[in-house]
Amino acid sequence: MRSYGEIRTVISPKLHFPWLMHAFTTRQGGVSEGPFASLNLGLSTGDDPEKVRRNRERLAQALGFSWEEAAQGEQVHGTKVAVANFPGEVFPATDGLLTVVPGIPLVALFADCVPIFLVDKAKRVAGIVHSGWRGTAQKIVLEALALMQKYFSSSLNDCLVVLGPAIGPCCYLIGEEVAEQFASWKGKVLVREGGGWRLDLREANRQLVLEAGVPQANVEVLPLCTSCHPELFFSHRRDGSKTGRMAGVVMLK
Ligand SMILES: [Zn+2]
Repeated sequence: MRSYGEIRTVISPKLHFPWLMHAFTTRQGGVSEGPFASLNLGLSTGDDPEKVRRNRERLAQALGFSWEEAAQGEQVHGTKVAVANFPGEVFPATDGLLTVVPGIPLVALFADCVPIFLVDKAKRVAGIVHSGWRGTAQKIVLEALALMQKYFSSSLNDCLVVLGPAIGPCCYLIGEEVAEQFASWKGKVLVREGGGWRLDLREANRQLVLEAGVPQANVEVLPLCTSCHPELFFSHRRDGSKTGRMAGVVMLK
């Protein structure tokens, strides 16, 4: 955890570099009220847009970036990963972002889905991926790694992958049609529970990057479950559609 006044963020020691800023926000430190209390960063939630704007400004100021300069994808639970070359770019139907340009914050919004931070520490590539069950089943994280190799000649030995706070298997019961997508996956991705299943999205993504060839020592799972910690996180599964959004932010300095 790292605090900026009332704003509290989750960070990973693995991504401590003088040339990199990264953070995953909690719900603490904003001005929104009720189910959006208080640091809701999502506009399409039913929250007062003026409060969301103030929350975004507050966060950006604390972390030392400008929200207007953030590159963002219009998230659709797909597999498209875009490369941001200019500040403020918005990419349609995009759930993953990469950049090699210092000063462009990459921002993605979350309320249970897995935030995946990707950093090539040698070539200095930064990325963020939004991976829910659809994105995980379609392996969007591998698309991001493939583009890092293709466009930036990244070596997987230099790539660091951090899986941030997301809904854990403790709170993620799923039905047959979702379970079918993961039926052939190994390990503890899918666990039988009564008449249904529990799904571990972070373990699924961890397996994907390890199988792709990222060394185990380069991969970190932050074990916080968004649904288990109502004081820290919004959770769509726990609270329904009337809830806020956290942000994952990564920027080369
Ligand atoms: Zn949980």
